Amino acid sequence: MAIYPWQLDLWRQIHAMRQNLSHALLLQGRKGVGKLEFARALARGMLCETPLPSGEGCGKCLACGWFEQGNHPDFRSVEPEALTEAEDEKPAKGKKPSQEIKIEQIRELAGLVSLSTHRNGMRVILIHPAEAMNTNAANALLKTLEEPPPHTLIMLVSHQAQSLLPTVRSRCLKLAFPVPPLEQSMEWLRQQGVAEPAPFLAQAGYAPLAARDLTLDELQELRQGFLSQLARPQTLDPIVLAEKSEKLDLSNMVKWLQQWLYDLIGCRLSGIIRYQPDFAAEIRTLAPRFPLQAALTFQKELLEAQKIVHHPLNTQLFLEQLLLSYRQLMNPTESDYVRTR
Ligand SMILES: [Zn+2]
Repeated sequence: MAIYPWQLDLWRQIHAMRQNLSHALLLQGRKGVGKLEFARALARGMLCETPLPSGEGCGKCLACGWFEQGNHPDFRSVEPEALTEAEDEKPAKGKKPSQEIKIEQIRELAGLVSLSTHRNGMRVILIHPAEAMNTNAANALLKTLEEPPPHTLIMLVSHQAQSLLPTVRSRCLKLAFPVPPLEQSMEWLRQQGVAEPAPFLAQAGYAPLAARDLTLDELQELRQGFLSQLARPQTLDPIVLAEKSEKLDLSNMVKWLQQWLYDLIGCRLSGIIRYQPDFAAEIRTLAPRFPLQAALTFQKELLEAQKIVHHPLNTQLFLEQLLLSYRQLMNPTESDYVRTR
């Protein structure tokens, strides 16, 4: 749980005033700039039993462990039901999960803050996105803010702070999270493996995390397309696929091939599909159909390929060769694949 580079100054400021920190903070700014991550890092740092000099959580103590697992007794995260369920990936049964933070959720907090903390330290409450509180919930929170409970930090994270009750806003110390400078976002995204960050940043309104999410979506789509081809080795054309994949990151593709093969072999030997449950049906169909020894040899070939993936002489040829090996592996009775062009 690192602090993003564009948040370091703000982090230092907050850390410097840690001893006299307001009991309520409002972290406001555009969606996708890292407010929630900052709030979580701050919560973890405050609950940590042996924090780093920077104020960050050590990541090693009991408290940090609980925090990571989401069960620190002195930490509460309050969010709309719909968000929690999206994170748990549990589809809602029957009625639609609420998009609002309801009064019951805020009332629970009032009960919580009336008790002493479990670890005799701080208690941290995180409410996000705060604008999801309906009027009743916001009014209930206001009562808690008016009589701040001891040893408690309440953090509101908001993408639309202007829509919060003015009375709630005025009781919080406001922390503004501006969109980071373009160069800093570009640099960070490049470090995340995004070769051409500019169009993604533009699409995401220059919010770097939102831009990264867009690239992840795109990557997912590319992966789906690539694996769909691997799933049909009879019609797989290594030359065409290598050509089509030219703009993809080679290292990703070798990784996808490795994982694909891992699952083919794993499924054959033990029935386990580890990396591609979304392609389980296809993998089960293919698993009995290749010579095992040749598959293990190809696995070694991929391992070697991964080592030189960042400096192949010819990217397209490199990938073509690997796909050709895959095709031959999966079509052992086929006479040598003939290049059609
Ligand atoms: Zn710790």
